[in-house]
Amino acid sequence: MDAVVKPLRKASLSDHVKSVTLGARPSREEAEAAVRTLIAYTGDDPAREGLLETPKRVVDAYEELYRGYRECPAEVLDRTFSEIGGYDDLVLVRDIAFNSQCEHHMMPFMGKAHIAYKPVERVVGLSKLARLVDVYARRLQTQEHMTSQIATAIEEILNPRGIAVMIEAEHMCMSLRGVEKLGASTVTTHFVGSFRDDPAEQVRFMTLVRKG
Ligand SMILES: [Zn+2]
Repeated sequence: MDAVVKPLRKASLSDHVKSVTLGARPSREEAEAAVRTLIAYTGDDPAREGLLETPKRVVDAYEELYRGYRECPAEVLDRTFSEIGGYDDLVLVRDIAFNSQCEHHMMPFMGKAHIAYKPVERVVGLSKLARLVDVYARRLQTQEHMTSQIATAIEEILNPRGIAVMIEAEHMCMSLRGVEKLGASTVTTHFVGSFRDDPAEQVRFMTLVRKG
């Protein structure tokens, strides 16, 4: 059994890695009233029978879609394993499906994240990387921020030799409104350490991600 050790933390973690300190939230009643206002804004009648329960359902969905504000990336990556048997090449977890909400339109964007890192002395359970993606996805996001925040969290908690994060996603705000381009995907990458410094490492990462 590998030893579980506390990670060597940098002196200070970025705010988004520690947690999100929310101010006082509006009450549930206030949130439901806001949904009724939006329904009325569409031109429909919030008092219509089919819509009576809708504000409650929307607020329930918000609890789920935005639960990442009540989760802490540092805690997700808290347990690391120190006996890695001299393994120092990359660890890649690819095709981590996620869905998030864009902060510009509050409409979904969804796709896959691929994460690689080169461990130094410690690794993290593979499922934790998938959970880390979810913590950041379940917040109002831009794809660019999500990509770099995932990399920063891994950097600050695990301190590996290199990190590569790639996200491919389709944005409903682009597919269903605006330019209405169904199926267009956006790719973002963020490289840290050995991946940033060595273009050959980036190519290797991309090749492994693309290998079907
Ligand atoms: Zn958008």
